[in-house]
Amino acid sequence: MSNPGSTAEKEKTQTTCVNHPDRPARWHCMKFSMNFCDECAKCPHPEGYCRFRPQCLIFQMSGEED
Ligand SMILES: [Zn+2]
Repeated sequence: MSNPGSTAEKEKTQTTCVNHPDRPARWHCMKFSMNFCDECAKCPHPEGYCRFRPQCLIFQMSGEED
């Protein structure tokens, strides 16, 4: 029972990446309520309408390549 992450048990509000449960999430998709780490941060559905897009940091960071 030497789990190094045991100290995080109290931090139930700590969000983790949807793809990497061991990584803290720094980005949040408000439309799909998904959390991403730096590596995974991209819009899950960039071609669909999203009312949060104007304020979406993920989209601003990853979606301006054209
Ligand atoms: Zn990730």
